[in-house]
Amino acid sequence: MRAIVVGAGVGGLAAALSLRRAGHDVTLVEQTPHFTETGAGIQLAPNATRVLRRLGLLKAVDAHAARPAELSFRTWSDGAEICRYALGRAVEEEFGAPYLQVHRADLQQALAAAVPSGSVRLNTVVAGVDQDEESAYVTTASGERLAADLVVTADGIRSAARRQLFGADEAVFSKTAAYRALVPAHEVADLDLPDTGVWLGPDRHFVHYWVRRRELLNVVAVFGTETAQESWTAQAEPGEQLRAFDGWDPRVLGVLQRTGQVFRWGIHTRAPLARWNVGRVTLLGDSAHAMAPFQAQGAAQAIVDAAVLGDCLTGATSADVGGALDRYVRRRLAGATNMQARSAQAGEEFHLPDGPEAEARNARMAAHAAGHRFLPQAAAWAVDALDERATG
Ligand SMILES: Cc1cc2nc3c(=O)[nH]c(=O)nc-3n(C[C@H](O)[C@H](O)[C@H](O)COP(=O)(O)OP(=O)(O)OC[C@H]3O[C@@H](n4cnc5c(N)ncnc54)[C@H](O)[C@@H]3O)c2cc1C
Repeated sequence: MRAIVVGAGVGGLAAALSLRRAGHDVTLVEQTPHFTETGAGIQLAPNATRVLRRLGLLKAVDAHAARPAELSFRTWSDGAEICRYALGRAVEEEFGAPYLQVHRADLQQALAAAVPSGSVRLNTVVAGVDQDEESAYVTTASGERLAADLVVTADGIRSAARRQLFGADEAVFSKTAAYRALVPAHEVADLDLPDTGVWLGPDRHFVHYWVRRRELLNVVAVFGTETAQESWTAQAEPGEQLRAFDGWDPRVLGVLQRTGQVFRWGIHTRAPLARWNVGRVTLLGDSAHAMAPFQAQGAAQAIVDAAVLGDCLTGATSADVGGALDRYVRRRLAGATNMQARSAQAGEEFHLPDGPEAEARNARMAAHAAGHRFLPQAAAWAVDALDERATG
């Protein structure tokens, strides 16, 4: 079949590769003139890295990644360890694929390099999607109309296709924002940081992990706010991040002092949908299920969408594309919706005020870690892997 994928973010690139692997002819349409993944780090749990392996890209991504050994949850003021989980070899043994931490540009580059340049149309804004019984169509802002057997819209959290297919729901501001920065490893070498750290405090949490073969520390400092700014290019005022985390453990402040450029990103989500597809058109990734980043699963879920979409469309023909898309949505919707809810809930738990509720949370987390080697969300990594194995 001929497929058009709208959007060359992580989800769209993975979908294009997965559909090609399933034997279809794919055109990938992206509004920006270059593949430009800005931003900073991204964590890839084994549900995502399994798919990268299937796409033949695990080595390419791994070559630029950091492989964490473990994750430590800490309290904000004194850095006391609440609990600790394995992220290294044990994860790979249990889930059949590694946990990787990468720079977004490295991930995007590895994915983009695998898509033949002849099947990519950059600098092309999609203005609308429609369909009749035989085909689906993409109309570009310059008035061109492209036809295909199916269209996958991976156009992100502000998806125009979602609005067109399912009406005008808006992105929901989570009342949290993140300072994001990358710090050269040698600048924080004296700080005695845990390998991967998540520090929890009232109305805030602070995450750090290594990317690019541990040459850079990726920093995400999340705080409650009423200001709904969302842009990779919005920069924080000098010292703003330090003032926001005033009183935190000296290691946290040490990192925040050494950040050069700090970006400020308002965190938005999307309400779950009851379905993602209509006829020959389906949503994928953030356009379908944008979630808060507090389980580090948004891109991973988009990558798993792509794998399952490819499976469901293997051997499908234009006559049964609607049924194949139904199967894709049936397999993916509950898991992605569940992850949206877990992510929102994690944000609330991470930000509890000091006092009995935070103490109870810490006790719950410690009790969980005492009985489990892996993070609570690892149950979902396993479900994604099982689902994939069922047909993969
Ligand atoms: C602070 C933060 C930290 C995160 N950390 C993690 C993490 O550790 N692990 C993880 O798995 N996820 C993480 N995520 C989530 C992850 O970044 C997203 O879920 C993921 O990038 C979504 O990919 P996507 O391809 O669906 O959308 P996008 O990356 O938004 O891509 C959409 C693409 O569509 C293009 N487009 C849009 N409209 C049009 C149009 N009309 N015509 C043509 N092209 C169009 C855009 O230019 C863009 O290239 C994090 C998110 C945030 C905000």
